[in-house]
Amino acid sequence: MIILNEKQVATVQAHLASAGLSAALSAELLDHLCCAIEARMGEGSDFPTAVHTTLKSWPIRHLRGIQKDIRFTTKIKPMLFRMATAAAIAAGILFMFPIKTPAPSGVTACSTQHEAAPFLPQVNERMIDPPTASPIAGFEMKDIMTSGYGMRTHPILKERQHHRGIDLRAKTGTPVLATADGKVIFAGSDGKYGITVRILHEDGYVTVFAHLSEHTVERGDHVILGEKIAAVGSTGVAMGPHLHYEVLKDDKPVDPLALLER
Ligand SMILES: [Zn+2]
Repeated sequence: MIILNEKQVATVQAHLASAGLSAALSAELLDHLCCAIEARMGEGSDFPTAVHTTLKSWPIRHLRGIQKDIRFTTKIKPMLFRMATAAAIAAGILFMFPIKTPAPSGVTACSTQHEAAPFLPQVNERMIDPPTASPIAGFEMKDIMTSGYGMRTHPILKERQHHRGIDLRAKTGTPVLATADGKVIFAGSDGKYGITVRILHEDGYVTVFAHLSEHTVERGDHVILGEKIAAVGSTGVAMGPHLHYEVLKDDKPVDPLALLER
């Protein structure tokens, strides 16, 4: 039986980090990816080949799809379950199911139960909507946010105004990723916004990425969730390198973090 060493596990972990997944989900998936790799090595593949083959079948958009489903499972389902339970109790029926708890967080070493069915919630392959992924790989938006959505005093103009998006801390050159599948409707220089990319998504959503150092997609391009579209910079009116990220719904800005709670 082959068990990955620490360095090999770290390689797999780095791939997961690049998908911008939550720590809990990364830990859960890490175990399963490691097991799949170990199984392939058990069949005679060397480590690089086993990693390549395994990760190819787990593209970032697929991982993000899982994250989206988990968010639903862990947030919505227990609520529905509690409502159902309350109704059942009211009817005088003892209604007991074990509530499935989400996987414990923390990095787990690979378990050796290769026979076990892989943890694979149903992944919806259609376009994921609304855009909820983080545009900066490896970080959740709330963890790197330096300025939130809503009223604020502009850091340079010193005027009280509505901040149409959120500012995310990142170094110049950090890859900026599409936060949902869509079509590029603008890529270029846009006044105060500096180098900007705008992407149209399903359901009237548009995402806006501003103050970029460069864009790596062009108007008309179709992009998928997790695809690199640009790099962080400080073009336009910006104090320093950061990503200004907006989500518009039917042309009106919405709080990108609020979408996570839907
Ligand atoms: Zn901003």
